[in-house]
Amino acid sequence: EVRADLCYTTREDVQRLIRPRKKFSHKGIYGHALLLCGGYGKIGAAVLAARACLRSGVGLLTIQAPQAGYIILQTAVPEAMTLTDKNRRHLSELPREIDKFDVIGVGPGLGTERVTKTAIGQLLATSHHPLVIDADAINIIAGSEKLKAQLPKKKAIFTPHPKEFERLVGKVKNDYDRLQHLREFCVEYQCYVTLKGSHTAIGTPEGKVYFNSTGNSGMATGGTGDVLTGIVTALVGQAYTLEEACLLGVYVHGLAADLALHTVGAISMTASDVIDHLPKAFLHLT
Ligand code: AMP
Ligand code: MG
Repeated sequence: EVRADLCYTTREDVQRLIRPRKKFSHKGIYGHALLLCGGYGKIGAAVLAARACLRSGVGLLTIQAPQAGYIILQTAVPEAMTLTDKNRRHLSELPREIDKFDVIGVGPGLGTERVTKTAIGQLLATSHHPLVIDADAINIIAGSEKLKAQLPKKKAIFTPHPKEFERLVGKVKNDYDRLQHLREFCVEYQCYVTLKGSHTAIGTPEGKVYFNSTGNSGMATGGTGDVLTGIVTALVGQAYTLEEACLLGVYVHGLAADLALHTVGAISMTASDVIDHLPKAFLHLT
């Protein structure tokens, strides 16, 4: 049986999506992204997401981080602007001028402190931005029916790994059941979900599912998911549609890791190696 609602993403599919950079362009054209990432002991998650975001073509990047992250981020990611939270260790507030951003990537390294839950609640209640929601932001939303109820009004992409996905939808029995839950969640909450795994599945609000064709077991290491958050956030910032950003982002993330196989191999691969191979991956596609 051939089903039109189950698709497999090929290189030609994503090559068609990539828009070349225009000669008479400036950084204002490529979007201003905000990352709400990083908490005490997990500022590295913000560093990885930020570096990946910058390697994926975003025009400007601002990171809002707890005070503990300020020096780390300004040193590790000089291209990004850093705003500091009033809280020393955890995200507890949103930036004052939040309307100026084109996209918000939220979650990696945040933790689930009460102050952070409040900030995520404010984000869902007040912002009209497209959101890329990962990691602890998923965990926080999964734990609150009140927050989940806001989702159908939002433009959102969730990027859960299988455990985070189960927190969102409940216990999954097998792969087929996981696919059913993926469709149902995307349709019910009118959002996109990139359900990460060795063949990441992308669900759409119409109930369609795309399977990705890149990536390898070298990616089974801490921080690679944070890299995906940065990539997808950058693409949404550049005004790719949410569907395009999911398909292209997941593909290029896996392709960068496949290219990294040649230089570092699967055993030694780190999330930073995936970021370091993003330039080659984008070059391959253009
Ligand atoms: P996270 O668990 O959030 O750090 O995300 C891990 C990332 O690595 C996701 O993008 C997964 O799709 C990818 N990944 C993990 N294990 C594998 C694997 N065995 N093969 C391919 N991709 C993988
Ligand atoms: Mg993760």
